[in-house]
Amino acid sequence: MPLSKIFALPGWTSVGRWTVFGTLACAAASLVLTWLMFMDLESDVAPRILVASAALPIIIGAPLFFYFSQRLRGLAIANIRLGRVARTDGLTACLNRRAFTARVNAWLERPASSCSGALLMIDADNFKSINDLYGHDYGDEALTIIARAIRSVLRSGDFVGRMGGEEFAVFLPGVTQHQAQIVAERIRLSVIVSCFAPDGKVHPLSVSIGGAAFVEATSFAELFRIADQRLYSAKQAGRNAVVLDQPHEPPKLALRIA
Ligand code: GH3
Ligand code: MG
Ligand code: MG
Repeated sequence: MPLSKIFALPGWTSVGRWTVFGTLACAAASLVLTWLMFMDLESDVAPRILVASAALPIIIGAPLFFYFSQRLRGLAIANIRLGRVARTDGLTACLNRRAFTARVNAWLERPASSCSGALLMIDADNFKSINDLYGHDYGDEALTIIARAIRSVLRSGDFVGRMGGEEFAVFLPGVTQHQAQIVAERIRLSVIVSCFAPDGKVHPLSVSIGGAAFVEATSFAELFRIADQRLYSAKQAGRNAVVLDQPHEPPKLALRIA
């Protein structure tokens, strides 16, 4: 049995069910065994033996079954929490790179009639200067502000990951290229209007965004490659910019990945 099944969260009803059924099963087994062993005894002794043989498993079994099924529930809760910690970036609370990649890959590989969406690569602009000017702790604070600004304009079904350093990725399932462009612009504006004021002085934040929208089955590696190239173009264009299409791309690629 897979570990995920064993550690699937049992509710309190399940704990109660295990306690009752487990205890009754033990009592029934004990009764049958006792009856087989002592059925030839005199009729006035047999009922007392049978009652004793049923009472013992109930007295001992019920607390034991309750204890173990409630411990199993505790383990399941701890397992869910550990899984969440393993998937999450500690500073920004976004998915970490591994979890983000796995989730996007799972979405891209799912059997579905329609397959469209977009991947956005987002990089904070001139971030090194924030660390140099105010120190690493303020740099960390700026990263959490940027992450919050990105999340604030997304739908609940979109995924946000921190790909490392000051770089984030957003996956938008089911969007067209036009919608992806709008979301990317919203993210860019949301970061600009966010308030970062180290030492009481407002320091402007901005991000550059490169994106790849798709309308046919594709791979994460391909989307990542194209979005990353376009992110580079956004940086070249002067930063604080969104690039989602490239006019000079070969027609075949442009057809598959808009
Ligand atoms: P560009 O606009 O070209 O992206 O310039 P940049 O300064 O943002 O890029 P660069 O790659 O030169 O520097 C990235 C900086 O991000 C360097 C590194 O110290 C900082 N950084 C990466 N991860 C963290 C982090 O977790 N916390 C903090 N405070 N800084 C980080
Ligand atoms: Mg940067
Ligand atoms: Mg970077």
